[in-house]
Amino acid sequence: MRKITIVGAGQAGLQLGIGLLDKGYSVTAISNRTGEEIARGKVLSSQSMYDMALGHERELGLAFWDKDCPPIQGIHVKAGNAQIGTLLDFRARMSANGQSVDQRLKMPKWMDEFQRRGGNLVIGEVDMDELERLTESADLVLVATGKGELGKLFERDALRCTFDRPQRSIALTYVHGMVPRDDFNALNINLNPGVGELVHFPGLTHSGPCDIINIECVIGGPMDRWDAVKTPAEHLAMTKALIAEFFPGEAARFENIRLTDDNGILYGRVAPTVRHAIGVLPSGRKVLGMGDILVLNDPMTGQGSNNAAKGASMYLDAIVARGSAAFDDAWMDALAAQYWDYAQWSARFTNAMLLPPPPHVMQFLGSCAGNASLAATFADAFNDPKSLSTWFYDPEATLRLLDNAAVAA
Ligand SMILES: Cc1cc2nc3c(=O)[nH]c(=O)nc-3n(C[C@H](O)[C@H](O)[C@H](O)COP(=O)(O)OP(=O)(O)OC[C@H]3O[C@@H](n4cnc5c(N)ncnc54)[C@H](O)[C@@H]3O)c2cc1C
Repeated sequence: MRKITIVGAGQAGLQLGIGLLDKGYSVTAISNRTGEEIARGKVLSSQSMYDMALGHERELGLAFWDKDCPPIQGIHVKAGNAQIGTLLDFRARMSANGQSVDQRLKMPKWMDEFQRRGGNLVIGEVDMDELERLTESADLVLVATGKGELGKLFERDALRCTFDRPQRSIALTYVHGMVPRDDFNALNINLNPGVGELVHFPGLTHSGPCDIINIECVIGGPMDRWDAVKTPAEHLAMTKALIAEFFPGEAARFENIRLTDDNGILYGRVAPTVRHAIGVLPSGRKVLGMGDILVLNDPMTGQGSNNAAKGASMYLDAIVARGSAAFDDAWMDALAAQYWDYAQWSARFTNAMLLPPPPHVMQFLGSCAGNASLAATFADAFNDPKSLSTWFYDPEATLRLLDNAAVAA
């Protein structure tokens, strides 16, 4: 039986581990936190996931919350502010629903499931020495430690990085008491140019259905005031104050919000980073990265968990297809290239949304209000950002798409 060791038990690591157990591999997963610690801890993410990624979970029998988690059924995009007025306002259903299950619910349950299916779950912080030891006893060691320190083993790929620093400070808040929309459950994306974004959608947490709010603040901009916030109550008050000031059209829905729990908040910055997939240990032995280690996106478009799930599925297929052959450099390189071939489009989409849009993108987004098919095309990009690859970044191709859409309308 081939032995696979996975360091890090998050979306990428656990999904892959459980998939490998089902295929008859001997799998060890190492987590620096117990399920109970994760459940009792702070929220980790807003983890909105869409159909392709959820499909991989469903294939493995890991979709335990399909009945309880409120669906995300579409998008509603608004842009503008008091000075410049309304630039964009359009909505569209997605072809298939998304959902967001608090990782504090999901990962402990998946850890139990991993063990139930025969996995060996070890609790402990893996450092470089331990990583060396792990490579001695496994056929393949994967590192799926997200934003953890171990990621530094994987060299930053400067040629593939758009930014060298965070573009937003991000405040995450889980709440009850939000006034529901009267059309469908949406991924609500509100853009205030030069100031930042308010992105919110329904999810599921310890205390049941909730709403999850990401406020993305341009660094040094007027919303970047979080350093003074010290307590959960202050975090909630700042959330409400910023929404009232910078997204007043949304504010009425937030008037009576309350935190789901004191740990339902997070504040930080993410430097969007692409790393080389193969980590070389001092001994010369190699380990393969996955998930956030390889492509770390700003949460703005909610692509990280989706990437982690899609990547885990890709890795599962590649490991199984390898049969009993060695997981050598050529195999690792080919898998890394296959992952980047897909994940690059999530990075490109996210990074494009962090920058002021070029005229052709504004023209496209502006056309979405009057054309349901264009709006639906954009809504589905959150599920599959690669679907934008043939036109969104190319002014001529975008204008052709708009011309064709005008003819068809
Ligand atoms: C504010 C915010 C909002 C987000 N919103 C979304 C969203 O809406 N949609 C979306 O798709 N993505 C979102 N993301 C990103 C998403 O959460 C991540 O991309 C995803 O969780 C990455 O999965 P992973 O398995 O690579 O890493 P992780 O989920 O981070 O898992 C890594 C695991 O490894 C463990 N670990 C770390 N170091 C060690 C070590 N040395 N030894 C042992 N264990 C270790 C960690 O404790 C953790 O459990 C968001 C992120 C943030 C910060």
